[in-house]
Amino acid sequence: VPELPEAETTRRGIEPHVTDRRITRVKVRQPDLRWPVPTDLAKRLAGGRVVSLGRRGKYLLLNTTRGTLILHLGMSGSLRIVDEDSLPGPHDHVDIGFSGGKLLRLRDPRRFGAVLWGGDDPATHPLLRDLGPEPLEDHRLGATLWQASRGRQVAVKNFLMNSRVVAGVGNIYASEALFAAGIHPSRAAGRIGESRYDLLAEALRSVLSEAIEAGGTTLRDFVREDGRPGYFRISLKVYGRAGEPCTGCGGAIRLLRLGQRSSFYCPACQH
Ligand SMILES: [Zn+2]
Repeated sequence: VPELPEAETTRRGIEPHVTDRRITRVKVRQPDLRWPVPTDLAKRLAGGRVVSLGRRGKYLLLNTTRGTLILHLGMSGSLRIVDEDSLPGPHDHVDIGFSGGKLLRLRDPRRFGAVLWGGDDPATHPLLRDLGPEPLEDHRLGATLWQASRGRQVAVKNFLMNSRVVAGVGNIYASEALFAAGIHPSRAAGRIGESRYDLLAEALRSVLSEAIEAGGTTLRDFVREDGRPGYFRISLKVYGRAGEPCTGCGGAIRLLRLGQRSSFYCPACQH
């Protein structure tokens, strides 16, 4: 599942190919994504020019002179730059064509992704307006998390994965950050002190940055016809490693269900 690092890796890979390009056409083959793709997308976008490709949490923002298109990769989506004569596959649902002969193509086999119109002020869009701070940009994130967690009984892992608390953190990077900070995933969010939240914020920044850097090594994939972004190239220390030895103490990593999600942790190193 794409998380913030995959969205950011995608943003960095795509942006140089679309910035300053004029949008020549929009083709929607399958509008039935997580929410319906607006039927007037071609009318809204064609003739406009791309100003930048931004990101908010896991959402990508194609900022154009006509307004902003909001893109989300859902569970299985990917965005690639292809030649305009490249034939679409069965899961290639949306193409945006640019001056210069390239297409931005959304492939999404499970169709949980989104392509939505954000207008002139995307920050007020219902999907974006309640998002918490960006973990890589809020340099007081530890204090922000500590304040937001007062009185909360929810497990700290679920707290971290709440996009109103902090944007873009999913199961994988929440698990890894909690391990790096030595915090047990099921500990009540409200019973963790400010200094431990500082450690957690630092751990979160570190695992997200590492994943983005690892993704950055495969940016060339975005312009390859059959290329796939290099998700999850980082070495995960707990996620998906139940029963394997902890890199800290050598004991076995355990699996716990929190909400409906699998959580991986070391009972000796996290408390
Ligand atoms: Zn351990």
